[in-house]
Amino acid sequence: TKEYLRKPKWIRVKAPTSKEYNETRKLMRGKNLFTVCEEAACPNIGECWKNKHATFMILGDTCTRACAFCNVKTGRPLNVDPHEPQNTADAVASMGLSHVVITSVDRDDLDDGGADQFIKVIKAIRETSPSTTIEILTPDFRNKPGAIEAVAEAKPDVFNHNLETVPRLYPKIRPGARYYHSLRLLETVKKVDPSIFTKSGIMVGLGEERMEISQIMDDMRMADIDFMTIGQYLQPTPRHAKLVRYVTPDEFKSYERMAKGKGFLLVSSTPLTRSSYHAGADFEKLRAA
Ligand code: SF4
Ligand code: SF4
Repeated sequence: TKEYLRKPKWIRVKAPTSKEYNETRKLMRGKNLFTVCEEAACPNIGECWKNKHATFMILGDTCTRACAFCNVKTGRPLNVDPHEPQNTADAVASMGLSHVVITSVDRDDLDDGGADQFIKVIKAIRETSPSTTIEILTPDFRNKPGAIEAVAEAKPDVFNHNLETVPRLYPKIRPGARYYHSLRLLETVKKVDPSIFTKSGIMVGLGEERMEISQIMDDMRMADIDFMTIGQYLQPTPRHAKLVRYVTPDEFKSYERMAKGKGFLLVSSTPLTRSSYHAGADFEKLRAA
């Protein structure tokens, strides 16, 4: 449709077709599990699933919020599945994952925002696959006192929460969220347990300026955030936030240099970077260094 800008060649990806892709699909369906790879229509699904990387989405497939950039469906959420922690742990074990990413929809309807289910999933994976490193990507748990601290006490290896965009664009892109609340969330994690790596990411192509990106990086370093991801926003449908432009691969490289210069330990900045893209491989490299 007219709303779309023509995709540059660095964005086009192959359709997913591998044997591993089909096996992963079957495994998820069989255990009633969801992945953000599918629900958010991630362009890396072919590559990631072929390499047995997947990001589990717990607490159902329906979100209580409707962020303007996100393809996950909104509405009345599903009941929390008591078998989800063990089913997730079993899937991690049967896929033989050395690093797993767990995320969720926002559950503003639950008293704890879903914190308890994160804790149960972490514990179940620790028991079944003790050597697997666990990365969580959480909602903001806004107005849920104690939720962030409780999840941090469950000791994930990496605690990720995305800032998504620069503060000026929050009212348009992330209306249910507050920039400083999200920054403080990650600061809190470090205070609870300084051994947990903290991570955050943004999308670009929504009309942000270079100076604003530099500022967001400074804010993140002030909050002691260790890892940063920067990826191209892709407009899922004409109803979603308007894609302003495609950022070039050279600009992504220059953001990467900027971030490294500001002291981040790990930086992924490419057009197809997503929070969880190559998360395991990068983290293993860091731990080996
Ligand atoms: Fe899934 Fe993340 Fe890979 Fe996308 S980048 S397919 S969400 S693991
Ligand atoms: Fe999507 Fe998360 Fe926003 Fe829900 S809170 S609409 S899952 S980005």
